[in-house]
Amino acid sequence: MTSSAPNTVALVLVGDELLTGHTIDTSGPWLGRRLTEEGLQVGAATIAPDDADAVVRAIEHGMEAARAVLVTGGLGPTPDDVTRAALARVPGHWVNAELANDVGIEPGARLESSRAIVYAVPGVPAEMRAMVSGQVLPEIVTAAGHMSPRSTRSLIVVGLPESRVAELLTPVREYLGDRGRLSYLPQTAEVEVLIGSTGNDASTLAAAATARARQLLGDAVAAENQRLEEAVVQVLGARGVSVATAESLTGGLVAAALVSVPGASDVVRGGVVAYATDLKADLLGVDTDLLARDGAVAPTTATAMAEGIRTRCRADFGVATTGVAGPDPQEGYPAGTMHVAVASRRGARVGSFEPSGQRHDRETVRRQAVVRALDLLRRAVVDAGPGPGES
Ligand code: ATP
Repeated sequence: MTSSAPNTVALVLVGDELLTGHTIDTSGPWLGRRLTEEGLQVGAATIAPDDADAVVRAIEHGMEAARAVLVTGGLGPTPDDVTRAALARVPGHWVNAELANDVGIEPGARLESSRAIVYAVPGVPAEMRAMVSGQVLPEIVTAAGHMSPRSTRSLIVVGLPESRVAELLTPVREYLGDRGRLSYLPQTAEVEVLIGSTGNDASTLAAAATARARQLLGDAVAAENQRLEEAVVQVLGARGVSVATAESLTGGLVAAALVSVPGASDVVRGGVVAYATDLKADLLGVDTDLLARDGAVAPTTATAMAEGIRTRCRADFGVATTGVAGPDPQEGYPAGTMHVAVASRRGARVGSFEPSGQRHDRETVRRQAVVRALDLLRRAVVDAGPGPGES
């Protein structure tokens, strides 16, 4: 018999492609979040190749960490699908059953012995998710019996380094004590803070800790339990105002982030990717003298782009990005130079940034510029005051 807690689950993710880097494992993170939401915890996770012996070893290892072992992948009919062969070889006296697959073809499997329960579900993420949510999790949660409630909230913080965020939140950490935990997850140019709590008053405690954290972090908090772009679309909608984008450095990523949010059509007017310098004049009306004097990579140009797109698209706010994605310098400016601007009827604001963190590659610079642009927009909209629908 294993001594592991009944709310602990071990994961075994099967597939050569997960080990060669052909496929990025999305099932492990999804399962981690889903299980945590249910009050369960992942006691171990192993990625195993398409090799029956390796899968058997991974399952046995999982059984040392947990009473429930969840295997994903390798269930199909092709010779590289080894999970069924592995299940037949796990030592012990097992009772077998099939798990219905409502999304795909290949059924799952369930094996039970006095020592453990092993679930095997298909690797295809949509099928895995449906089977886990519909069949596996309810069973594990019921078997685990009463669990101490848990609550987790997330804050997206922009403009402060992780170490400063942690320092500012010291009183919250002390307030939570052993009833909760703060985790800091640096993202592109923002830090996600997870505020977790346990116990019968877990949600009240997490709410109080979150309110205190928001006070301490002030306007650096861009979003709560939301992605940054969701928070931006929400505040634009609440204020009844619209936005248009003019992008050079980010090549459309700011517009793409905004329109990824359901309901974006209420607030996003449109946008232009003006990569070549002459298009900044032709499409956005940036003054050619200004471009000749300051160049394409300048705060003044970013501001003129934001104002140009705002008026051309008849939007309340214009947001613009320009800079040097790299790897080579441009117009004498180093890779990583970022200028973002926001214009409204009341005037414009501009922010100039260098990349934060260790990575300064092209992708990172562009992604960081998106975060900076969305955050500057959010601040400008918030500072403009409540809209007609708000008190
Ligand atoms: P099938 O019936 O399709 O053979 P299966 O259970 O055998 O299903 P796999 O062949 O292992 O599953 O994987 C099916 C698909 O799901 C593949 O495209 C694989 O890359 C993808 N997949 C498997 N595991 C994961 C994972 N952990 N994360 C992301 N994708 C995965």
